Amino acid sequence: MIIIMNSGATDEQVIGVEQKLLAMGMQANVSRGIARTVIGAIGDEATVDKEALEALPGVDRVLRVMRPYKIVSREGHETNTVIDVKGIKIGGKTIQVIAGPCSVETQSQMDAAAEGVARAGCRLMRGGAFKPRTNPYTFQGKGVEGLEMFRNAADKHQLPIVTELMDVRMLDTFLEYGVDVIQIGTRNMQNFDLLKEVGRIHTPVILKRGMAATVTEWLMAAEYIAAGGNHNIIFCERGVRSFENYYRNMLDVTAIAVLKRETHLPVIVDPSHAGGKAWMVPALSRAAVAAGADGLLVEMHPTPCEAWCDADQALDPQQLADLMTELRGIAHVLGREL
Ligand code: PEP
Ligand code: MN
Repeated sequence: MIIIMNSGATDEQVIGVEQKLLAMGMQANVSRGIARTVIGAIGDEATVDKEALEALPGVDRVLRVMRPYKIVSREGHETNTVIDVKGIKIGGKTIQVIAGPCSVETQSQMDAAAEGVARAGCRLMRGGAFKPRTNPYTFQGKGVEGLEMFRNAADKHQLPIVTELMDVRMLDTFLEYGVDVIQIGTRNMQNFDLLKEVGRIHTPVILKRGMAATVTEWLMAAEYIAAGGNHNIIFCERGVRSFENYYRNMLDVTAIAVLKRETHLPVIVDPSHAGGKAWMVPALSRAAVAAGADGLLVEMHPTPCEAWCDADQALDPQQLADLMTELRGIAHVLGREL
């Protein structure tokens, strides 16, 4: 950490900063220039309160040298982390497409969906049993019964299941049903108590970007999970709120490149909640894969017009299969597989 003093800072003020740093367990290295004095603080800056230093008399500003997110950062961990979900690798050479309906509805709907997911060549399945709906009077998900239906359908095709956890009180149930990947939705990205709880287990977590979260806030949210000991974290860009209302959210393709630089963890993209319309999904998927995403999270329903939730953004099974064929070509050009 570097503390830059004001141009007129007095010796007493410099000593004051040195003493504060010592009290924080840091060493101080004072460099006196012609115009400014700069103090290098040596030690673990992750736990240091930057604002407490900035408030000291004579201090102009304080700069961090290290990223505040230590575990998820590429600093000190250069190679990509590959997350293993029942033998399926996320973050490696193979791009993984996780597909399935927005919501678990009925056993026959889930059976048909699982069949479509497997037939398209996808290796993991999504489906929400607990739904975070904007309107409290709309379908809220089938709950535990939904987990049961999801497990039954996915097991027939050996598809690991990805489903959203909204309430920490359901965590034990998720573990009982052997949920393979826990999804934390956009609305809970900064639910720090929920993040801490999924940090205590080892189940992989898909952390969706908050709809108005900066990349740094998103990385810090992941650090909450990692700090508890769970390093199996997958970032999922799903579009952010913008001024544009033609589509549901603005897919931040730039964030894919930024995250791939900032973190060693896998990055996937949800083109369905970004565009909000099925016809946009192929274009956004192509962009995501071309930009370096390690996978996609795509909504697919056996009969989209009958879906209980997000009907207009779901692909049908044939559209998913066509998308997989198309993406395979892009993956190949990039030296990856799908
Ligand atoms: C979902 O994937 O089912 C979902 C609700 O997405 P988000 O949290 O990104 O809105
Ligand atoms: Mn949805």
